[in-house]
Amino acid sequence: MESNIRVKLIEKSKIDTVDFNNLTFGGIFSDHMFVCDYIDGEWKNASIEPYAPISLNPSAKIFHYGQSIFEGMKAYKDADNKTLLFRPLDNHKRLNKSAERLVIPQIPEDIFMDGLKKLLEIDNKWIPTNEGSSLYIRPFIFASGEGFHASPANAYKLIICTAPSGAYFSGDVKVLIEEKYARAANGGVGFAKAGGNYAAQFYPTKLATDKGYQQVIWTDDNTHQYIEEAGAMNIFIRINDTLITSPTSDRILDGITRKSILQIAEDKNIPVEVRKITVSEVVEAAENGSLKEMFGAGTAAVISPISGFGFDNKEYDLPKITDGYATNLKKYITDIQTNKSEDPYGWRVQL
Ligand SMILES: *Cc1c(COP(=O)(O)O)cnc(C)c1O
Repeated sequence: MESNIRVKLIEKSKIDTVDFNNLTFGGIFSDHMFVCDYIDGEWKNASIEPYAPISLNPSAKIFHYGQSIFEGMKAYKDADNKTLLFRPLDNHKRLNKSAERLVIPQIPEDIFMDGLKKLLEIDNKWIPTNEGSSLYIRPFIFASGEGFHASPANAYKLIICTAPSGAYFSGDVKVLIEEKYARAANGGVGFAKAGGNYAAQFYPTKLATDKGYQQVIWTDDNTHQYIEEAGAMNIFIRINDTLITSPTSDRILDGITRKSILQIAEDKNIPVEVRKITVSEVVEAAENGSLKEMFGAGTAAVISPISGFGFDNKEYDLPKITDGYATNLKKYITDIQTNKSEDPYGWRVQL
């Protein structure tokens, strides 16, 4: 397949305009992108092209019915300048899981992986080498086929583009436990990385940021009594020495960071519980001092410690722990990702 990828290189690289020592998250884009079309029942026309605007018909179904899915991954450089990915086949699998739910055609593993590898080969210099930075990778598929009929499109585009990125959050992350809105419902698409899920989060998140919080902690749509996710991250809560996270479901995305943390925690003999967590349990733990840590887990931020939360018009601060589970687990994971430690799990993939 790799040999079938047509390559059209940019005339002049933009890389000299980028300050790699002051990267924000996902705001600067590398020179090239991988594009592949689904037309007449098959994926074809795989190509690497300059990162540039694309042309679509106004009646493309993505605009009307939101038939669109994405993934988030990262590429790293180790001390020997080798290019590394973290569990990329899991992203491919999840993309197809999301695709099935949105009636988007399955993307074969070889097209996805060969396109990704070729792109990273060509834009290799865009992978940051400084501590805490990486190349964020955004594969996405959307309905490019035309029609106002509310039904799946007959044509799709897969694009992979990349963004050299620094930290996702800067400073403390205070969160608001949601009491009214929900990001997902039983039988819905919460488990899929479907674009519309995030559009629907913006309004409740805006209400929370207007009140001074950075994120919303999503609770179940039915009772709002159970803690489910932290923004677009899975959530972990430490009560005394036990690390708790909610089980995945229709409503909760099966995060690769989440499952990596669960595996590492188990191997480091951290007591772990995968179970439903009630809001009242967390509030009570905050009041009696047994709530030690809360953090979000996802590819973009890896682990994002939460400094406090709001619920029912009250504020709860978490203790300032500098050497807690969040710090240690983040180091274990990033050391594996960047080849600073052994990878007993076979998660690291070298290009
Ligand atoms: C992407 C995402 C996550 C984290 O998944 P990772 O595979 O760890 O990046 C968690 N929750 C939601 C809602 C997400 O979109």
